[in-house]
Amino acid sequence: MIIVPLGVSSATPTAIRHLPSLALWREGKVYLFDCGENAQMRLLQAGIKRSKVEAIFISHLDGDHVFGMFGLISTLQLQRRDKELIIIGPEGLKKMVDTVLAITQIQPDFEIIYKEIKPDLEHEVVLEDDDFYVEARPLKHTIFCIGYRFQEKDKPGKVDAEKAREAGITADEQYKALKNGDDVTLEDGTVVYSADIVGDPRPGESFVYVTDTEFCENAIRLAENATILFHEATFGEPLKQKAEDTGHSSAQDAAIVAKTAKADRLVIGHFSARYSNQFILLKEARAVFEKTWLAYELRPIFTNPTLEKEVISPRVELIDLKEKKAQPARKTFKPGFKRKPGVKKRRFKRKPANARYYKGDQERSSRDQYKKTYKRPDDDRSRPSPHRPSKPLPITPRTPFDDFDRF
Ligand SMILES: [Zn+2]
Repeated sequence: MIIVPLGVSSATPTAIRHLPSLALWREGKVYLFDCGENAQMRLLQAGIKRSKVEAIFISHLDGDHVFGMFGLISTLQLQRRDKELIIIGPEGLKKMVDTVLAITQIQPDFEIIYKEIKPDLEHEVVLEDDDFYVEARPLKHTIFCIGYRFQEKDKPGKVDAEKAREAGITADEQYKALKNGDDVTLEDGTVVYSADIVGDPRPGESFVYVTDTEFCENAIRLAENATILFHEATFGEPLKQKAEDTGHSSAQDAAIVAKTAKADRLVIGHFSARYSNQFILLKEARAVFEKTWLAYELRPIFTNPTLEKEVISPRVELIDLKEKKAQPARKTFKPGFKRKPGVKKRRFKRKPANARYYKGDQERSSRDQYKKTYKRPDDDRSRPSPHRPSKPLPITPRTPFDDFDRF
């Protein structure tokens, strides 16, 4: 399984974080957990085909967790999808989707199968296939909210081919029977026992999605021995009261859930927009549960990296901003280097490529070279103007994405 967080913000998007959504890739099929705005774009950027989405699991009907669904359905229709789409979530989901599709006159040619969960839910298997099932339990939020556990069924053990050959097994069918746990009787009457040839069954992996909830027992039940637990960590410990009032968890709450449930790995996400530095939350969680990671948008989490490496390749360049800053400046001095006599040291003036500034009474832009010389006849810059600032205006990039010429 590969888990790709598509949006890790809570309630409102920020310049660098998108609304809640997470993709789970397994055996070529994709399962979405929540579908905030931008989910379909983030899928594309993560290198995941939208047509591969099999089912969408919605935790609750707050807009920030569902608004991306309509856009995604619209795109699937334009892509001429004919495979059915399963949407699972709280009661009222079908009415919401149907209403939006009716008003926007989208008539999907593919079938949408709804599975609505009633608020009196205690515990239910909401989706089952040959080799996995998805379990749902209610969480504790201001409105009815559901947590999910995606559980692979145990895989049969590996057949010891050498042992089997020694025992006299030759046909493929006999191998299959042994693998399925059936004993095989050979022609001479000897019985080859499956337990002797086949190893122990390999436990299936599991992914647990718990978001928008206070600390609650059901989160622990869902997360029991999970391979990966995604748990919301909207606030830090100083805002514990706010977390309780709004039906959310702190990073420490998430860590306590992971620790109590003996999860293999905790991934925290759903950060409040106030945390520009989410490492504060990571630190809090790690104080309780060491094996905690931060959810990074588009950064895949592999349950079995040796098997799943290179299955997904992001189509956008992932830049680690921290690393980028830390890059050492280019070395200009080489030990032992001597300048030739008479050759002057060249100096380069550095300026940002997009910088625009006022010099004297003439506006200059490094991009628009012609402006240096060209002056519109009616543009007399010596005249005071209410629209033109008398002082140079510094343009300070607030985020990496603001670093462009907006004026
Ligand atoms: Zn939320």
